[in-house]
Amino acid sequence: MNFYEDSVRDVIVVGAGPSGSYMGYSLSKMGHDVLILEEHREVGKPVECTGLVSERVMKLVNTKAETNYVTGASIIFPGRSSIHIEKTEKTIVMDRDHFDKDVAGMAIGAGSDFSINSRVISVKEHEDHVSVKYRKDGRIVEENASVVVGADGINSVVRKELYGTRPSRIVSAYQVDSAYSMEDQRSVEVYLGSGTSGGFFGWATPSGDLTKIGTGSLFPTARKFFERLNRNFGSNRILGINGGAIPISYLKRTYSNRSILVGDAAGIVKPLSGGGIYTGIVSSKCGAGVISRAIENGSVNSKSLSLYQKSWRSELGKELWFDGIIQKLFSSLSDRTFDRLYRVISRPEITELINRKGDIDYPSKVVLSVILRSPEILAYLLAGK
Ligand SMILES: Cc1cc2nc3c(=O)[nH]c(=O)nc-3n(C[C@H](O)[C@H](O)[C@H](O)COP(=O)(O)OP(=O)(O)OC[C@H]3O[C@@H](n4cnc5c(N)ncnc54)[C@H](O)[C@@H]3O)c2cc1C
Repeated sequence: MNFYEDSVRDVIVVGAGPSGSYMGYSLSKMGHDVLILEEHREVGKPVECTGLVSERVMKLVNTKAETNYVTGASIIFPGRSSIHIEKTEKTIVMDRDHFDKDVAGMAIGAGSDFSINSRVISVKEHEDHVSVKYRKDGRIVEENASVVVGADGINSVVRKELYGTRPSRIVSAYQVDSAYSMEDQRSVEVYLGSGTSGGFFGWATPSGDLTKIGTGSLFPTARKFFERLNRNFGSNRILGINGGAIPISYLKRTYSNRSILVGDAAGIVKPLSGGGIYTGIVSSKCGAGVISRAIENGSVNSKSLSLYQKSWRSELGKELWFDGIIQKLFSSLSDRTFDRLYRVISRPEITELINRKGDIDYPSKVVLSVILRSPEILAYLLAGK
């Protein structure tokens, strides 16, 4: 049975992850009529995240989701040599489920309508509106809006329906919650090389008595790498498995006549780390301003919405483009080349440079500085094997 709503809302946001809820919050604060649709019965579940974010994110969102913080990282090379990076700024470890609920709470508090258990199944653009069909409690509901926002993650239905494309580079991640307490609670461990990842990296992130241990792979084999990595932490401690896919390349076009794509749906994710919470929220901030202006001017079309792409690219474009190139080079490095890189990076002056310039959200600064200081790194990256 179909239920039709005659009214046309300003915006329907598909997906209540951080990007979608932040979009709802921003638009509602500007006085718009927003509906957020979330397919799951509970916001924040299932968790598919390590929960590492910069303090910038914690300033954007009113949340108490922090469970720990780290200031350092130990990078373990294939030959088992390691270097330690230590920063003055904190990187926050948070409970992602709690965080997503807090962002959703901000959207509702600002006035967004919110509907869980609402799985969007089709999106159609018309001349003067967009129609969105979703399944809720066994019924099909159809609602209309001036604009639809695809904030529905890696397998975005909005993207499938209106763009017919997907990000070209996708990391499959396999992660567990392990009942393993890391000795150093102020440092993450990062594992490089073919023993522990397929063209990406492995990680262990401390959060008190729990550790998130995971690995990423550009081939569909993350579990195999994880099993090798997990030998470092002891078996029979796994409390839950929570992997997922991470897009690490953005789409060429992130707007249409009556839609925009934000966050993972658009592949707006940091390619070197796979972190997408900060970039997703930034894309939503950019998108909300553009949508609001287009609606207020009565000119929702691909020309007005194209300003969204200009806006997010001016905030993040250069960074994601550069990091994408470095990630491609990085993904083809052999273990031998990683160990050669170790010899350069472990020099005190280089480690000091990384400590000083490293920024989890904008890593290009430190990568460029290190290459300028030790140009042989570029030769290693380009030689790959
Ligand atoms: C193992 C792993 C570890 C990670 N660790 C980190 C980290 O430490 N730090 C970091 O910054 N990033 C991390 N990421 C990436 C981060 O999780 C994503 O970039 C982030 O969740 C993107 O937010 P989003 O709101 O764009 O999409 P999502 O969080 O994927 O939200 C999309 C929402 O849309 C909903 N949805 C999907 N389809 C529909 C539909 N048809 N109808 C209605 N609703 C729908 C989903 O249920 C979901 O709630 C990690 C990812 C993985 C897989």
